[in-house]
Amino acid sequence: MSKEILILGGGYGGLLAAQSVTSHLTTGEANVTIINRSSTHQIITELHRLAAGNVSEKAVALPLEKLLKKKNVNVVVGEIQSIDVQSKKVGLSNGASYGYDALVLALGSETNYFGIPGLQENSLILKSVNDANKIFAHVVDRVKAYAKSKAPEDATFVIGGGGLTGVELVGELADELPAICRENGVDFADIKLKLVEAMPTILPMFSPDLINRAMTSLQARGVEFLTSLPITEVKGNVVTLKDGQTITSNTIVWTGGVQGNSLVANCGIEVNRGRATVNSALQSTSHPDVYLAGDCAVVFAPEGRPYPPTAQLAWQMGELVGANIAAAFKGTKPEDFKPVFSGTLASLGRKDGIGAIGETGIELRGTPASLMKKASNARYLSHINGLYTLAY
Ligand code: NAD
Repeated sequence: MSKEILILGGGYGGLLAAQSVTSHLTTGEANVTIINRSSTHQIITELHRLAAGNVSEKAVALPLEKLLKKKNVNVVVGEIQSIDVQSKKVGLSNGASYGYDALVLALGSETNYFGIPGLQENSLILKSVNDANKIFAHVVDRVKAYAKSKAPEDATFVIGGGGLTGVELVGELADELPAICRENGVDFADIKLKLVEAMPTILPMFSPDLINRAMTSLQARGVEFLTSLPITEVKGNVVTLKDGQTITSNTIVWTGGVQGNSLVANCGIEVNRGRATVNSALQSTSHPDVYLAGDCAVVFAPEGRPYPPTAQLAWQMGELVGANIAAAFKGTKPEDFKPVFSGTLASLGRKDGIGAIGETGIELRGTPASLMKKASNARYLSHINGLYTLAY
């Protein structure tokens, strides 16, 4: 009887696991099912562009059916409600239930609100295509409202968190807001674009020189940085910072941090601070028939620090998981996970960026960084057979 492989999540880890396992097994050796909340594979590294209206939805939301065409993968769109690793059953909110011989957990991460009062209720986030569409619609709506109301809170945009998500979003907004304002008869000089960061600096993964480069470029386009100032509370449209100052704004986007996926954290496998622990073959340390790919797992570097949860890591994990499930079914030796890091690139709007690439962290600024980021996206799309989206 052929085996059942069940993949939960159609992001970087899940899609690559599906593509990889089917390329390592011949048809009939296993049934592969992938379950995802939406029918699309979302390029979340490009969501900031969608949130500012700088790219079409089609360019960042690729139909899973199309990417898995000819791969003999059953694509199920549904909301996963329960994962029972004892009885090996996964339940969906529509009552459907799926069993498995091998399970891949690739459910990504969730927004971490750190228990800050009022934050979740009063902020937007940027984790999915839906979220990005909401941000864009909201931003346009506020500019239109300001044209009539002239209320400063309609013209004030607050981004909470100066990590890669927050900075890439603010860069894109800084580039797109002038046109949105023009179209609606608003003077861009009236707009306040504020990025609030708890730590003394934004983007701590880069050198002081690159950080300075990023801040100068964004400040020149109207971004105001408030650093060493954690958001401590949000009440309605009033954001309070640690020093007691308040900002009144009808747009608060929270990009202040991520945490493991709660379904994974609570399903009974071993976890470390909410993220599944894995062996060198990316199997759960407590349940070897459960494999992990992406942000919902934690992988430790040889020196003991966890790797940051990035798309490049999720992609590589997914590929190895696919190969290792096939190896387990064939009775051959699994391979160890040896991630390769191509570096970190941050876009700072349409034409600017910074990056530290390769093993040695060669620094890029401006157009080369921006082009490298585009090339890295094209390389990924080509790898998953999604290059056609560049036409959108
Ligand atoms: P993050 O955790 O990397 O950054 C969140 C930032 O918010 C931190 O700088 C933190 O100090 C700040 N913060 C936390 N609490 C705060 C508070 N109360 N008030 C104000 N600021 C606060 O989160 P992220 O940027 O969403 O990134 C998540 C992961 O995704 C990271 O591993 C990142 O490398 C990856 N990512 C990569 C890219 C890229 O490669 N271009 C883009 C986006 C995300």
